[in-house]
Amino acid sequence: MADFDVIVVGSGMSGGWVAKEMSEQGFKVAVIERGRKVSAEKDYTDFIDPWDVEHLNRKTEQDLKDYPIQSGVYAFQSYTRQFWVKDHEHPYENAEGTDFRWLRGYHEGGKSIMWARQSYRLSEIDFEANAKDGHGVDWPVRYGDLKPWYDYVERFAGISGSMEGLDILPDGVFQPPHDLTCAELDFKSKLEVAFPGRRLIPGRVANLTEPTQEQMDLGRGRCQARNHCFQGCSFGAYFSSNSATLPAARRTGNMTLIPDTAVHKVIVDEATGRASGVETVDIASGETRTITARVVFLNAGTIPSTMIMLNSATSAAPNGLANSSGQLGKNMMDHHSGARGSAILPGNLDKHTFGRRPNGFYIPRFRNHTEEAEGFVRGFGYQGGAMRESWWRSQHKAGVGADVKAAGREPGPWRIGMVAFGEVLPNEKNHIRLHETKTDKWGFPVPVLDVQWGDNERNMVRQAIKDTRAMLEAAGGIDIETDDPDTAEPAPPGIGIHEMGTARMGRDPATSVLNAWNQSWDIPNLFVTDGSFMTSAGCQNPSLTYMAFSARAANHAAELMKEGSL
Ligand SMILES: Cc1cc2nc3c(=O)[nH]c(=O)nc-3n(C[C@H](O)[C@H](O)[C@H](O)COP(=O)(O)OP(=O)(O)OC[C@H]3O[C@@H](n4cnc5c(N)ncnc54)[C@H](O)[C@@H]3O)c2cc1C
Ligand code: SF4
Repeated sequence: MADFDVIVVGSGMSGGWVAKEMSEQGFKVAVIERGRKVSAEKDYTDFIDPWDVEHLNRKTEQDLKDYPIQSGVYAFQSYTRQFWVKDHEHPYENAEGTDFRWLRGYHEGGKSIMWARQSYRLSEIDFEANAKDGHGVDWPVRYGDLKPWYDYVERFAGISGSMEGLDILPDGVFQPPHDLTCAELDFKSKLEVAFPGRRLIPGRVANLTEPTQEQMDLGRGRCQARNHCFQGCSFGAYFSSNSATLPAARRTGNMTLIPDTAVHKVIVDEATGRASGVETVDIASGETRTITARVVFLNAGTIPSTMIMLNSATSAAPNGLANSSGQLGKNMMDHHSGARGSAILPGNLDKHTFGRRPNGFYIPRFRNHTEEAEGFVRGFGYQGGAMRESWWRSQHKAGVGADVKAAGREPGPWRIGMVAFGEVLPNEKNHIRLHETKTDKWGFPVPVLDVQWGDNERNMVRQAIKDTRAMLEAAGGIDIETDDPDTAEPAPPGIGIHEMGTARMGRDPATSVLNAWNQSWDIPNLFVTDGSFMTSAGCQNPSLTYMAFSARAANHAAELMKEGSL
């Protein structure tokens, strides 16, 4: 008899959902997590302010040495470094001429502790895109299949947002939105007059603005508008596995979390062709162990789950597990960013804001939707915010003490800042493989990432810069800062921290790894519901979509288990 009904590999954003759904369905679930257990008391630093920390929370020389890649991301600070991997302990290689930045944290909850909580649905336009313009393969689902699951995960997670009635960005089950600031409202009204197809709306974020009874029963409270979320939230006020899905799974009594344990392989029973469990390595001792289950879910994150499948090659599957299509490891996507801009918006000199809203505004995609574009397919959306110029400068320049505080209290001009996140096309050439000889200290082959953006992404970034400038100008912005739209390049792959697509779902087992239920075509009791299943990227931040697919796949697998076919 198997040790567990279900193994979930990874306790992050997607794994937490599978753990919750399966435990609530009455199955015995093992969540195997390579990182440590996390507790609010030990790991969260949301009650610490920059002036309480050595070096005023600036990165140290040692940080730059220990975290040369991770420390490049905005969310890495002295009081959040406990959530990021030390780069030299977790090596990877880039193929010649490429530069993927792999940003991550290995601990209970994964990147769900570190995320910026922006939560948007994909639309019918996104699910149809591949079929219409011929890039990648067709999604095996449409928006209607996902809508009830978006509703379901939003209701539980708690997403704040406004109802807008846009077909490019479907509305959802929202808690009240955060207010836009005076300068954002001003920008909104001017840009919507100048460009009738464009809209500026409050960001949709997984921060509780009006907690439900179900959320309060899990010990979660209302967001206090402190903007300390990257430090972890002791109120459980933003959605993470740690605040929401894992506690829900734990209270069923059916979940066993196995921390400090890395999965290296999925084991397949050659007689039945099904997964029988996983081979694990104890992070501290290096000891290996086999854990068995009826069903295995891979939720280790796009790159690790793909590595595990590639590393599970057998004589029957020499190119990697579940890879009869040859697509495993290919079609790596992210969202390209790099089109940034800012300007001072005159007026509102005497206005204040309440608290430190952990959010900003969103401008949904308009290119190749309400407005055509030349030189690329698909499109981009913007995230941004407006703050007093004095706050902006103190965030971006060194400075402490009474003068800085006094300047922060003075009324003054407002600066709008915004950045575009654009859709990356699925492209077989962008792939992950395992190094033939090099391994990490636990004996796992080091991944080699061979990913670079092409003309579609480059042309999109340049258009996004032109559009940024045009919108800031139309709103009367002065002191406009953007990159040069004729020479700008997309930021390196990985910087969007939305890696996805390397075990895509599709309609045909010859061209895809997973079916419409995130289930391997080759190994029926193997499911993959982290970002690797994504068939196209849309331009919306993807985690809400991972949650919806994870809940849907888990409930489907539960049905198959109950009827006895799994
Ligand atoms: C700074 C930052 C900002 C972000 N902002 C947003 C945003 O605003 N909106 C949005 O939608 N997304 C955002 N993201 C991305 C979001 O965090 C990810 O999309 C999401 O967490 C991915 O979920 P996952 O389950 O695939 O992986 P993760 O959440 O990373 O979880 C994977 C888990 O698997 C574990 N693991 C890895 N390898 C193994 C192994 N071999 N064995 C066992 N366990 C393993 C890891 O330790 C980890 O706990 C952001 C990310 C970061 C870092
Ligand atoms: S702003 Fe809200 S969600 Fe973020 S740390 Fe503070 S209370 Fe928690």
